[in-house]
Amino acid sequence: MTLTVLMNAGPWLSVPPPGYGGIENVVATLVPELRRLGVRVVLASVESSTLPVDEKIAVFPDGQFSALQRPYNQVCGVSQAHLAGVVRALHRRDDIDLVHDHVEAVGLATMAAMGPDAPPALHTLHWDLAKHPELYGTLDGGDRVRVNGVSASQLARAPRALREHSVGHVHLSTPLAVDADRRPTTPKGDHLVILGRINPGKGQDLGARLAHEVGFPLVLAGPVGPYHRPEDLAAAGDEARQNPDVRFFHEHVAPYVDGDRVRWVGTVAGRERDDLVASARASLFPLRWEEPGGTAVVESLSLGTPVVATARGCLPELIEHGRTGLLTADERELGDLVLAAGLLEPDECRREAATRFTPARMAERYVELYDRVRHGATVP
Ligand code: UDP
Repeated sequence: MTLTVLMNAGPWLSVPPPGYGGIENVVATLVPELRRLGVRVVLASVESSTLPVDEKIAVFPDGQFSALQRPYNQVCGVSQAHLAGVVRALHRRDDIDLVHDHVEAVGLATMAAMGPDAPPALHTLHWDLAKHPELYGTLDGGDRVRVNGVSASQLARAPRALREHSVGHVHLSTPLAVDADRRPTTPKGDHLVILGRINPGKGQDLGARLAHEVGFPLVLAGPVGPYHRPEDLAAAGDEARQNPDVRFFHEHVAPYVDGDRVRWVGTVAGRERDDLVASARASLFPLRWEEPGGTAVVESLSLGTPVVATARGCLPELIEHGRTGLLTADERELGDLVLAAGLLEPDECRREAATRFTPARMAERYVELYDRVRHGATVP
């Protein structure tokens, strides 16, 4: 029997996303592999999504990402409209075996709005929820709704209501783990790279200070708040500092950015991003938060670049200390680890990614979880 899954990617960005886009990237990576395994996928997203699927449900023509800058009630309005569209579609049909939802809390509200006729649902947690139990409260939808994490550590830290409804975790994956053609051939250089949103949790300030101490160049790639290019941030007025990530950048990172030892290049994408990471001595993750899933970590391994990081969140699950990276509980040791990272083998990193972080592996795991959800199981 064919399994039909309604995949809710939400109203914010098209799938695949044009550049940065966490959830949309996960959906774009997962869906083709699910369809290869014979799953029918109905995608709830925006009309401009181009991902090949069996059917599409859309309320908005284009991604509503810019609405996230508006007041909170307007953001909720967009979520509600998307939700209403999904519920309308679900009410009209009885062929959906399962909803796989990626939209924090909204998807669960879908189930509640549907009442007892709702199909069972799996909700993938994408965030570190230890500090945000209010996002879920009691799980509306009760026993028909299950959740999965993107790492064991994320689940272990999640509020109890979520853990009680968990069917396990599935690590994030990347097409780079298998796609040999996209693997860059750039030779290794001596620079370090931090790939990620500029944010205190990601620790770019620690990395920048470290680069000056150990004497290796560091490239910071990623957006500062809504600003993707240095010239756009430079042109933004002082009110831009109301954004906490912009303030963090100006106060704690920019003093180290000298354009030579430390550079901020804005958001990089595609081949440019892959080459930057593949040619690095190491990817740095001087984390201050408990990284829930770490897409950039598995991308780095896929590109043959070892990871030097504080041992927080999912890092110890993804990195084998001494083989694919070097981890420490003490951020003062990061400098020594950067020096030692040159001894690690790029091929070991690629091999690890090709074994553990492929899209096919992720899809197989999700098919297992769909089965568990449909039979009402939880992880003991
Ligand atoms: N990313 C990118 N260009 C950048 C910075 C980040 O394409 O300049 C991508 C990165 O490759 C990864 C995603 O953004 O795929 C970040 O996901 P991750 O799980 O590492 O961090 P999050 O932002 O979701 O906490």
